[in-house]
Amino acid sequence: MLKLSAQWQNAIHAEGEKAYPNECCGVLLGAFFDDDRIDEYRLVENIIPINNAREQTEQYHRFKIEPEDLMRAEKEAKAQKREVLGFYHSHPDHPARPSEYDRNNAFPFYSYIIVSVEKGKAAELTSWRLTDDRKEFLEELVQEEK
Ligand SMILES: [Zn+2]
Repeated sequence: MLKLSAQWQNAIHAEGEKAYPNECCGVLLGAFFDDDRIDEYRLVENIIPINNAREQTEQYHRFKIEPEDLMRAEKEAKAQKREVLGFYHSHPDHPARPSEYDRNNAFPFYSYIIVSVEKGKAAELTSWRLTDDRKEFLEELVQEEK
C-alpha cells in the first residue's frame, strides 16, 4: 500500500498539468513501514520533479528514469534522511495504466505512480509494482493520508 497525502497528490496533479501535452516525471521519497501488526506500507513524504526536457521530441509516452537520475535521487534521499520509494509520471490523454514501454523500462520493488491528464486536467491516479520476474505490473492500493 502507498500512503499519499492530499498535499503530494495535488503536487503530482500540478506537475502533470504543467507538463501537458507532454509527460511529467519525478521521484517519490519517503519511508517504508514494515510492522507485524499491520500491512507493509510506504509513505510518500516528498517528490523530486525530473526535468524531462532533454529529449523534446521523445517526451510523449517515453517515460524513462536514467541511471544518473536515480543516482541523484538516491543522493537527495540520503540528504533528507528518506528512501527512494519509486517514481511518478503522467499519461497525457491516456488512462492511468502502464504501457508496454513503462514495463520494459521499470524495475521491481519500486512504486510507479501514473496520473492521467485529460485535456490538460489531472484525472485518475494509480500506483503499480512490477513483479520480480518483470512480467507484469500489479496495481498497488493508494490510500490518501491526512
Ligand atoms: Zn507511462
